[in-house]
Amino acid sequence: MAIAHDGAMPDLAAPDYQLRPARRRTCRDGGSAEHDPLPRRHDTREPMIDSDDASLLELAIEQARIGRDEGGVPIGAVLVADGRVLGAGRNRRVQDGSAIRHGETDALERAGRQPASVYRRSTMYTTLSPCDMCTGAILLYGIPRVVIGENRTFVGGEELLLSRGVEVVNLDSAECMELMRAFIAEHPEIWNEDIGED
Ligand SMILES: [Zn+2]
Repeated sequence: MAIAHDGAMPDLAAPDYQLRPARRRTCRDGGSAEHDPLPRRHDTREPMIDSDDASLLELAIEQARIGRDEGGVPIGAVLVADGRVLGAGRNRRVQDGSAIRHGETDALERAGRQPASVYRRSTMYTTLSPCDMCTGAILLYGIPRVVIGENRTFVGGEELLLSRGVEVVNLDSAECMELMRAFIAEHPEIWNEDIGED
């Protein structure tokens, strides 16, 4: 099992390191955290992955693939609460000529108006570490949990999310990485535009 790729081990003695009561949570390989307590990157808390996380991330990957096939930046996201997908979105910078339709913001927009209480029990699944804009939206709505596909091609606001008490889980998906690597290699100028760089 390899949730983390920086090789860091959790400090089990740290006061903030504690395993949550099991809620159908398993490690990605099905092992229990008690036996294999590897952390995710930047993690100072519990390292567990919900058993539904991989399948929900798959919905975000599907959006990323659709975006790629449309000629767009291949990043997708889904907002989920109470086991229900509220909104699925993808980066529409190219497709819509949009400066603000990232995977996460598009998923939020498509979820429509939701009561604060719904956001506060939701999870944002996104194929890539969320940029500062999307991190801000996640914080604004009090979304307590973010599951990311990868952060090897880009690291967004994960530290800020963690510092504000948001749980961040990195599934380190090879497919998410490959989607981004291929896009960045082919369209570096569009990618730079998307993250506000020249
Ligand atoms: Zn973003």
